[in-house]
Amino acid sequence: MNSEGEVEDDAAMMDGATLAWGAIAAVQGVRHPISVARKIMEDKPRFLVAESGERFALEHGLEMCDKDELVSEEQYQEWKEEANVLDRPNTVGCVALDSSGNLAAGTSTGGTTGQSQGRVGDSALVGSGLYADNQLGACSTTGDGESIIPVVLAKTAIDALAEETHPDQAAQHAINTLKARVKGEAGCILLDRQGRIGWAYNSDNMAVAYMTEALQQPAVFTEKEQSFAIA
Ligand code: ASP
Repeated sequence: MNSEGEVEDDAAMMDGATLAWGAIAAVQGVRHPISVARKIMEDKPRFLVAESGERFALEHGLEMCDKDELVSEEQYQEWKEEANVLDRPNTVGCVALDSSGNLAAGTSTGGTTGQSQGRVGDSALVGSGLYADNQLGACSTTGDGESIIPVVLAKTAIDALAEETHPDQAAQHAINTLKARVKGEAGCILLDRQGRIGWAYNSDNMAVAYMTEALQQPAVFTEKEQSFAIA
């Protein structure tokens, strides 16, 4: 929730085959912001903010909702009582590789807790919040947008892959770059064109899950060194 007690969402998607992308920011009352980003990408790549993003969603038959439905009772109470609001993890990111070698990345967020109305972070910015290129890999990021943007975190990770680095090392390189150049916490998930997986973060933790053809069920991690199976 932002400073006004509202939810404003940002989302973007990128297609690694064509480098097409679509993005929205500061939209309200849209049930699945990532679906709007995808539709924009398929229609004509552009970045639509606030009412223009909402109008696009409505005109293209995407699911709308009452903007209050996006706020849980618990969050609303916290906000009303001006409680010491927890900085909740707000971002969901995804990278995928299909059997034809097509990579894609998507990132969706409610931004940072208590952000000022209209503030937009990195999540919907191609290069910072996500990147996908069939020739290299796909990346999605999370964390402090104000720190992620100046180091163009997703593209920094992707560029490290270009040197034949394993995605785990490339992700760590991107996070090291952020740590060395700006303050702040962030994380990224990375997939290369061979389907190798990597991630890194300098926050206390970051939950990650992945599924491959060889697995019966997703591998789920709440911390980098831990995994547990989904029941
Ligand atoms: N990166 C998002 C932003 O700055 C927040 C997050 O990842 O939770 O808007």
